[in-house]
Amino acid sequence: MRIGAIDMGGSKSIVAILDENFEILITKRFEGHEKDYNVHFDRVTALLGECAEELGTTIDELDALGVIPPGMVQGERTLLLAPATGWRNVDMIGEFEKRTGLAVVATDCDVNAAAIGEADLSGERDFLWYNISNGIGSAIIMGGDNYPGATGVSGELGHVKVEYDNPRPCPCGQKGCTEAHASGAAIGRRVVQLTDEDPDWAKVFEDKGYPKNAYGASLLAREGDEKALAVWQEAGKYIGRSMAVGLNVINPPRIFVGGGVSQSLDLLLPEIRRQIDLCTVEFARNVPIEQSRLGYYAALKGAAAIAMRKYHKQEETR
Ligand SMILES: [Zn+2]
Repeated sequence: MRIGAIDMGGSKSIVAILDENFEILITKRFEGHEKDYNVHFDRVTALLGECAEELGTTIDELDALGVIPPGMVQGERTLLLAPATGWRNVDMIGEFEKRTGLAVVATDCDVNAAAIGEADLSGERDFLWYNISNGIGSAIIMGGDNYPGATGVSGELGHVKVEYDNPRPCPCGQKGCTEAHASGAAIGRRVVQLTDEDPDWAKVFEDKGYPKNAYGASLLAREGDEKALAVWQEAGKYIGRSMAVGLNVINPPRIFVGGGVSQSLDLLLPEIRRQIDLCTVEFARNVPIEQSRLGYYAALKGAAAIAMRKYHKQEETR
């Protein structure tokens, strides 16, 4: 199979063609976004055409296309709002059917699509999925599918309140959310704050040429730097509190963690485990917490997964 995948973010768009084993055959990208979604969609479609051409094929020869817009999707069809680009109420399926001529076009938000990709790649049918990168997204996979909730906002464990004494504002409008205290951006802010307060620690980053962000703090923590280890312990505390809520409510057999921060899951896990022991009913505690199998291109693989599912569903009903 040849599956097209488009992952549109506020800061960049990535286009790819994958096979049925989630192998990325080719990928291309461009930075930034167009104000008018029509212009942006034309650009990503043209880029998909270039990918197809380099593989010796054309867009209309693809089996299916998965498209991830940079915002909330309703009913696996409509982009409600993309905060970074300002696009509103866009019929994603219609727009890309029109541009590509393909009969199978699927869409969903990045977190939901990636969770489906995790299910199909791992073969696991029930789990909590966390994506910890700039923000924290999460999804509940039950019986191999996303549990949608009444209005499409189930499984928002990134917005569970985990800090009551000094809560930070969160982009969702609440305060003290997991995302506000333990996302990659939040960890980076903490590093900047601590290095501002402690010039000696700032100098450690500068001498080693490490960036003052979550990644730089992970490098230092792996060298045994106690302050860096404390930063990861603090983030682990908040993530562990959030996971404890999920465990108490859903009692899933497994948790998968993806996103850039999942590269440092080993640094987070000791404190996550401690918090789960403190905050979770006994029989829900002993859950495996594993790094995602999707790797760096989680959203692209998620796009391919939802496209393949839709393709097989349409084949069945034919
Ligand atoms: Zn929030």
